Amino acid sequence: MSFDTLGLSAELLRAISEQGYTQPTPIQRKAIPLILQGKDVMAGAQTGTGKTAGFTLPLLQRLCENPLAKGRRPVRALVLTPTRELAAQVAASVETYGRHLHLRSAVVFGGVKINPQIDKLRRGVDVLIATPGRLLDHVSQKTVDLSQVEILVLDEADRMLDMGFIHDIRKVLALLPENGARQNLLFSATFSKDIKQLANRLLNNPELIEVAQRNTTAERIDQVVHPVDKRRKRELLSHMIGSRNWRQVLVFTRTKHGANRLAQQLEKDGLSAAAIHGNKSQGARTKALAGFKSGDVRVLVATDIAARGLDINQLPHVVNFELPNVPEDYVHRIGRTGRAGNEGEAVSLVCVDEHKLLADIERLLKKDIPSVVLEGYEPDPGIKAEPIQQGRNTKGGGQKQARGRRSGASAKRPASPSGEKRGPRKAARKAAGPGAKAQPGRRRSARSGERAALLGGGRTD
Ligand code: AMP
Repeated sequence: MSFDTLGLSAELLRAISEQGYTQPTPIQRKAIPLILQGKDVMAGAQTGTGKTAGFTLPLLQRLCENPLAKGRRPVRALVLTPTRELAAQVAASVETYGRHLHLRSAVVFGGVKINPQIDKLRRGVDVLIATPGRLLDHVSQKTVDLSQVEILVLDEADRMLDMGFIHDIRKVLALLPENGARQNLLFSATFSKDIKQLANRLLNNPELIEVAQRNTTAERIDQVVHPVDKRRKRELLSHMIGSRNWRQVLVFTRTKHGANRLAQQLEKDGLSAAAIHGNKSQGARTKALAGFKSGDVRVLVATDIAARGLDINQLPHVVNFELPNVPEDYVHRIGRTGRAGNEGEAVSLVCVDEHKLLADIERLLKKDIPSVVLEGYEPDPGIKAEPIQQGRNTKGGGQKQARGRRSGASAKRPASPSGEKRGPRKAARKAAGPGAKAQPGRRRSARSGERAALLGGGRTD
């Protein structure tokens, strides 16, 4: 099946062919015609399925089909994403696919200066891609008007809820035209109760689209657990990378501190490594990612939140140095591996403390992951399980809290995910570690929070 049959305009088909795409992906095949008809859509699809083009192409076409009177350029399509990186990627796609159209787009997220964004918004923008925190900053500064939005996209909605964005999303929804007067598209890799609730409130008679997740079936991914003592994990990891000659490995840790420490230790072992997490500046993250893609950096050590939204899919090797607290994150993590049609490998190093986490993951997967004890790394049966330590920086917006909220619907919101409004200075100071000075103003309060740093809340600028 080619793109020609989907009802897309000649300008969009030209942009698609310039990208070298010959066939629509399953999500594109299903979503594009429905979105072109103006239907609300709830789609189960994760990064790597081609979902971005799946909503961007018909969205652009609909805007072109109903042009506004000359001279008026209100925001007509709003795409909300959980992370800066995803926002930037979606914005790049909008530019790419819309290159032969006369529409303007802009992206707003935190961590960068707000003034250039204000200038751009002032000049008029048809499609706005935003993270919720920075978008609400613009709203409060009256530099954006959302009252004319015709199409709303929530991208990676599950992750937005994980990150505690529900309140910000509600605020944004209140600024949009009435629900019946706009088209709503919700994309999510997983469908928890919370997502379904959000969908019920947001979507009108939605069409449901499910495509096989590229990688959740085990066919293309070899999953294996290696039981090993915690203190020997790093040694085993270096050994595996070296002895198996892995050239490009994405390694997940639970905490920012753990990611830093592991990257440093791997460097000492002679492996080029970089850490990527929310306390790193945007520049450092971009550099680490570029190094990883180019092959200069052999091991990229990432936290779940940092890795989310990064275009680092189709890797040969993903290692769970530590299992995630939330089983769904395991699925996201291993979804990074599996090159088109080829097998990928997802290795989990599991110590005695993590047996419960492993059981939760296996329950989610509805299958056991094969467990292989490696010679020379047999766990010491004398070691007793201990509670899992969270990172130092979890207070005030760290990963633990971001995760914790998912399991408990009644869990209190610990801090604004965008960090700005609720994070008490004291918590931020504590999170920043001993010796950190109190920072003036609320903007600094969540500086140490991984979410705050990654979300477009703008708390790092
Ligand atoms: P996404 O799931 O939107 O993050 O897209 C994953 C990757 O697939 C991106 O690098 C896209 O450029 C690419 N892609 C999207 N649609 C197609 C297509 N129809 N054919 C080939 N590649 C595609």
